[in-house]
Amino acid sequence: MEESRNFIEQAIDKDLADGVYETVHTRFPPEPNGYLHIGHAKSIILNSMTAKKYGGKFNLRFDDTNPTKEKSEFVDSIKADVKWLGADWEDRLFFASNYFDQMYEYAVKLVKKGKAYVSDLNAEEIREYRGTLKEPGKDDPSRNRSIEENLQMFEDMKNGKYADGEKVLRAKIDMASPNINMRDPIIYRVAHLTHQNTGDKWCIYPMYDFAHPLEDAIEGITHSLCTLEFEDHRPLYNWVVEECEIANPPRQIEFAKLYLNHVVTGKRYIKKLVEDGVVDGWDDPRLVSIAGLRRRGYTPESIRNFVQLLGISKAQSTAEMDMLEYCIREDLKPKAKRLMAVLHPLKLIIDNYPEGQTEMLDAVNNPENEELGSRQIPFGRELYIEREDFMEEPPKKYFRLFPGNEVRLMHAYFVKCVGFDKDEDGNITAVHCTYDPETKQGTGFTGRKVKGTIHWVKADTAVKVTARLYEGLVDPEKDVYDENGNVNVNPTSVTVIDDCYVEPELAEAKAYDSFQFVRNGFFCADCKDSKPGAPVFNRIVSLKSSFKLPTA
Ligand code: ATP
Ligand code: MG
Repeated sequence: MEESRNFIEQAIDKDLADGVYETVHTRFPPEPNGYLHIGHAKSIILNSMTAKKYGGKFNLRFDDTNPTKEKSEFVDSIKADVKWLGADWEDRLFFASNYFDQMYEYAVKLVKKGKAYVSDLNAEEIREYRGTLKEPGKDDPSRNRSIEENLQMFEDMKNGKYADGEKVLRAKIDMASPNINMRDPIIYRVAHLTHQNTGDKWCIYPMYDFAHPLEDAIEGITHSLCTLEFEDHRPLYNWVVEECEIANPPRQIEFAKLYLNHVVTGKRYIKKLVEDGVVDGWDDPRLVSIAGLRRRGYTPESIRNFVQLLGISKAQSTAEMDMLEYCIREDLKPKAKRLMAVLHPLKLIIDNYPEGQTEMLDAVNNPENEELGSRQIPFGRELYIEREDFMEEPPKKYFRLFPGNEVRLMHAYFVKCVGFDKDEDGNITAVHCTYDPETKQGTGFTGRKVKGTIHWVKADTAVKVTARLYEGLVDPEKDVYDENGNVNVNPTSVTVIDDCYVEPELAEAKAYDSFQFVRNGFFCADCKDSKPGAPVFNRIVSLKSSFKLPTA
């Protein structure tokens, strides 16, 4: 089958054909300053799949060049998330901080070539001298310092002679460049910080635009895939690898970031939700952090499919949450057992069924997947059904239970409503039915048809569990952020139901086990709040979908 190539693959094909590179080597370069989110998943999947497709290599590299916000907790969570997504870095796990010596040497090389100089300007002055989009910048008064003096001062920077912000090393490029990134960018700063990997060894740290191309070069990366905001930095990337005289330098190619409409995606914003206590940690099931999605019950396959459906392009666009939900439904539909769980219980009493009798009925686990087999479920005189499956005075086209109407109890018998009980306040407390023994499921009964089928559980053997129903974290009626930059949180983003009744076997559900609760959606046993014998179920997604796969 002829497979369509995205624009990155087309560029790689050309590079290979032209002999620019012999192999393909990609990397995912997270900064360990937070947990990963669905946007990062796009980058992880793109980088690892591209390497795989070409029989190349994929590195996981921590871009840990800014110790202020970096923590080893984040290193661990990122490793777990990348692994979970199925991107295998094998033995190629790297830390940019391990290249600090080499980066320093490259900077010295630039100084020796007259391509970098130590500046006395402070941050504000540097900003003033930089100019604007309309006006060129002005030369730094230190720009023509001698190479000898620059070498000495850069060494002094390294040796701790200067306070934070007192000196910087700048690349000597062009203060009049129309591209502001090329106006003598800072490549090293003084910062007396303890680094989680290198400790107190360094008091100067390289800036991203200098460090990143060197990290790629040191690892032998061929195609450095990054997001569009770095497009204007590409000339600087190329300048660095050229002036540092990298043989066979890597090539930067940009693609569009993944954004989800009306969903908090940026790392910084998710971090704020965590720090403000709006959510219950980085893995709150309402977040689109990878850890949150995993806890909610998303699978790696569903996320990979989502990224693949979206495709890779340079055009900025926003995806809909609907599409991600579509992907998890499609993934779980054939994989998950379909069991019965009653979220809002109402007692149903079968008046003509013998008291104290239990009958085991055969129920197929997933009609789309024979391999999942079948199970035996207990049936008896007293059941729970969903409150909404009975109405005293039904509207038109209501085919479930109401006085005089007959429905099928899934996997069981036809029952006909013969009455109901009410308490003093007028609340319905039980529904009374009679059943027809002839109508047992699986006996080939064809006597008459009913329009409604409802689910149920046997009252005395059902297990009471907690279920959490989620909605979007952002208020659907409002903008994502308010005027102070805080998220407009949906007041009903989670509804906790403590008295759900489920089939007995669900009591044994283990963390991350997923099920379809018939008619109610896909649910996953929570990895943190479940206890042995007492699982807590997160609703991953309901069954109804408004999303339609675009047809080619
Ligand atoms: P955020 O924008 O959420 O703060 P970041 O870009 O600061 O994230 P990094 O750790 O620097 O986070 O990102 C690692 C890699 O993931 C980078 O190559 C970055 O371009 C990519 N990436 C980050 N966000 C997205 C996104 N929304 N879609 C695709 N790739 C992304
Ligand atoms: Mg970043």
